[in-house]
Amino acid sequence: MEDYERQLDRALEQIPKAVFEKGRFQIPEAEAIIIGNRTTLRNFKGIASALNREPEHMMKYLLRELGAAGNIDGHQAVFQGKFTKGVIDDRVKRYVEEFVTCRECGGPDTKLVRKERVYMLRCEACGARASVRSV
Ligand SMILES: [Zn+2]
Repeated sequence: MEDYERQLDRALEQIPKAVFEKGRFQIPEAEAIIIGNRTTLRNFKGIASALNREPEHMMKYLLRELGAAGNIDGHQAVFQGKFTKGVIDDRVKRYVEEFVTCRECGGPDTKLVRKERVYMLRCEACGARASVRSV
């Protein structure tokens, strides 16, 4: 266990500082695997929880943006069609810009609050509110 921790420390030291510049918020990279005509996003739930968003909300967005059918399968998401990691990373990044990042302070500490049929993005850090489109 000690060896593992020491290795981890060493690994962390080797990561360039720029990675940590934006604080604790990191968008996890997609782990996408294309098999046949389907794409499995293996860390789908991990991404949703890192972004602090409902998996169903993010899934609806991804399906629409990818123009694909698909479903959530445990921790993974399965899309009908071939989508590279780069394409999925790009869609996730856009999702973050639209449904996670605060319009005022640019911080990630936001909540998506649903009021009847309208979604509001509420910032926990600066208190700003913004309406966002529905997915
Ligand atoms: Zn804010």
